[in-house]
Amino acid sequence: MKTVDVSVVTPDGPVLDDQFDMVSCKAENGELGVLPGHIPMVAPLSISSVRLKQDDNSVQLAVNGGFLEVRPDKVTILAQSAEEPGKIDVQRAQEAKKRAEQRLEQQQENVDHQRAELALKRAMNRLDIAQ
Ligand code: ATP
Repeated sequence: MKTVDVSVVTPDGPVLDDQFDMVSCKAENGELGVLPGHIPMVAPLSISSVRLKQDDNSVQLAVNGGFLEVRPDKVTILAQSAEEPGKIDVQRAQEAKKRAEQRLEQQQENVDHQRAELALKRAMNRLDIAQ
């Protein structure tokens, strides 16, 4: 079966580089499935889960923003952060969720609601994927 070389890179360094049968992710305008031979494209990613399918070793990652780049011989995911379920610190994510929720409840002008909403999305995405 044909495979595609997938690299996942964050500002902290490379997260993984391996051959996969399929990449499933959530771009900002919808779900996207990339098989070997997919046409070249670039798409912004949502705060979401990326699934990398392999016969016997599939991988799931919690990604925070960034881009998916498809080239003829390679798929690159450049994300602000990308964690496998086992690397997610559940307590940290729960605390981040609580902080964001408290900020959103406050009707104060000095609270940046957009920033709190994004922090809440990141925390909920991590909690979903850590399960
Ligand atoms: P926090 O408020 O807890 O820092 P955050 O959503 O603001 O959460 P990010 O800016 O998304 O954090 O990530 C900063 C770095 O910390 C990244 O390297 C990311 O992988 C890591 N990170 C953040 N939260 C977790 C977590 N719950 N478990 C493991 N790594 C995490």
